[in-house]
Amino acid sequence: MDAMEKAKNILTSNKFVRVVLWLAAIFALGAIVTVLVFGHRVGDAPVNNSVQEEALVVNVTAGDTLSKLLSDQGLGHNDINAIAKVLKSDAGITGLRADRDKIEFVRNGTENSPSKITVVPGPWRRVELTCDDSGAWKCNAVDIERDTHLVYRQGEILDGDSFYLAGMRADIPAGILAEVYDLLAFEMDFERDVRAGQKFSVVYEENYSNGQRIDNGAVVEVSFDALRGNVKMYRFRKSDKTVGYYDPNGNGAIKSLKRTPINNAKVTSSFSTRRKHPVLGFTRAHKGVDFRAPTGTPIPAAGAGRVVARGFNRGHGNFVKIRHNGSFETLYAHMSKFAKNVKVGTVVKQGQIIGYSGSTGLSTGPHLHYEIIKDGKHVNPMTVKLPAINNLDAENKKKFLEYRETLDKAIAELAKKPGAFIQM
Ligand SMILES: [Zn+2]
Repeated sequence: MDAMEKAKNILTSNKFVRVVLWLAAIFALGAIVTVLVFGHRVGDAPVNNSVQEEALVVNVTAGDTLSKLLSDQGLGHNDINAIAKVLKSDAGITGLRADRDKIEFVRNGTENSPSKITVVPGPWRRVELTCDDSGAWKCNAVDIERDTHLVYRQGEILDGDSFYLAGMRADIPAGILAEVYDLLAFEMDFERDVRAGQKFSVVYEENYSNGQRIDNGAVVEVSFDALRGNVKMYRFRKSDKTVGYYDPNGNGAIKSLKRTPINNAKVTSSFSTRRKHPVLGFTRAHKGVDFRAPTGTPIPAAGAGRVVARGFNRGHGNFVKIRHNGSFETLYAHMSKFAKNVKVGTVVKQGQIIGYSGSTGLSTGPHLHYEIIKDGKHVNPMTVKLPAINNLDAENKKKFLEYRETLDKAIAELAKKPGAFIQM
């Protein structure tokens, strides 16, 4: 059955939805209690039915390596090498990630070293390592089945509000809100397009396992009644499996450059052909846009490209310039420092941190001065027409329009029933 068909069927049974939500709430509460009780590094906590089996959970933190953690548990060189080898060949794991991965050790009470080790790289995978009688380590990777719900949230901008505050009030999780902000930033100038009374809505995924909400997935649809008109974006998977965001007509919504590289930053000085320079005192053009940003705020590259300049001059202070394609370049000035590994010639991705804000050069306080240069001329970052990165071919566009119609109908149903969701 098509996922959206299934969705429609489930939407009609509102009672069922409520029951599921209640159960989910109860499980979530359970999860919170568990987290509170077993905080960071859990000591020798016997968990199994067998009296002699002991389990230990270690959360990987900065500086931890696989060999260090294994050696801490009493494993010798040969075992450590064998485990590292089998993890790489059978599970594609070459290293541990601090603050994300966990390792569970199970040992028999009488043994010095563990007989079973489970590497847990996030909530959706478990990699179990067992040692057989001959001393050989085997590895078995298990994917946890996830149950994805589409949920709908809507909000309104109030007087004196920011989009962020309104989003929090609408019960949109912070991580989802940050992604929504990133998406809308391609189309909207949050400084000028946001006013009290504007409405917005977000559809996103919640992932469940055994009825328990584990994490959030992707942003599926965003709608914002901005001053310049309704901005809508849909997530869509093309036939080649790549995922992108598109406007209602199927035009690529992700642009090659961002108008505002830093989220939630206030514009303190706009692009103009004449202004009185705050430090020099005389009138000259302001060739970019200034965003307020405390010293040390990470500055992401507005688009993918190659670093063509990284240096210092009297006006810009520490600056980085990136060439994006044949016609666009961006420049970031007054940095307190550069990101490591970002040098002239470095190829950067959109969103990759290239440096940190500061007040070097001719500057009255910490801010990011951002310029977009098109065909050698400075243009206003807030109004320049930016090219989309991924547009759809005719076949994918047709599929997108069909998908959009089904999704719009489902969203209209969700909007009528607060608290309901679509089971994918
Ligand atoms: Zn400036």
